[in-house]
Amino acid sequence: LLEVKGLEKSFGDRKVLNNIELQVAKGEVTVILGPSGCGKSTFLRCLNGLEPIQGGEIRYRGQNLAGNAVDWREVRQHIGMVFQNYELFPHMTVIDNILLGPLKVQKRDGKEALKQAEELLSRVGLLDRKDAYPRQLSGGQKQRIAIVRALCMNPEIMLFDEVTASLDPEMVREVLDVILGLAQQGMTMIIVTHEMGFAKSVGDRIIFMDQGKICETAAPQQFFTKPATERAQHFLDIFQ
Ligand code: ATP
Ligand code: MG
Repeated sequence: LLEVKGLEKSFGDRKVLNNIELQVAKGEVTVILGPSGCGKSTFLRCLNGLEPIQGGEIRYRGQNLAGNAVDWREVRQHIGMVFQNYELFPHMTVIDNILLGPLKVQKRDGKEALKQAEELLSRVGLLDRKDAYPRQLSGGQKQRIAIVRALCMNPEIMLFDEVTASLDPEMVREVLDVILGLAQQGMTMIIVTHEMGFAKSVGDRIIFMDQGKICETAAPQQFFTKPATERAQHFLDIFQ
């Protein structure tokens, strides 16, 4: 479904992603782990067209997204992304935030989009908050809304970048549970997280990055019991 070959990304002279290779099959959950600054966010941003790349290929359903003629607005309808800091529009209600993409970008029928938005909201337990403004919500609620907003575009792949990193511990669970639910429904996802227990339970495989490279790819069971590289072992020693 998604194939990355020889991806190179630099900021000025600094290379931050070096020869990244990845293949994602439909329904697969890939978890990316790695120390701060190793390039995880930059990688996800490249997959979503938020960062131009300097080399390599990103293929989605065979189409090379590294080309010039790519309509990222179109691609982002299929590859949704949720960030650490929600990025909800503060002046819009929950429901208006969610419906913006479906109505303005996808030009969908209002009734049908509203029905879907309400279904998604009730699935994450927030239907009663649909007319609230973001400032009236907790962090965990805002993040669940951000996930619903991305899902309402009916993406085929979801990218999550440390979506629980800004949350108080008691709110982390409610957000992770939503993502676990998506995994159970077969959603294709690439997840960057520092929640090791979650990584182990949600991931079909773990990718460990360090200094802009993929150091190790392994099944969660294997990665968490006996990683192949010393760097990964060191990383796990710090986090567990
Ligand atoms: P964290 O776990 O802290 O979120 P990360 O793995 O997501 O880290 P990135 O944010 O992808 O790391 O950053 C990778 C490297 O690229 C870092 O050295 C960072 O300083 C650099 N970098 C990221 N964004 C930019 C930018 N817009 N301009 C210049 N350098 C950047
Ligand atoms: Mg990051």
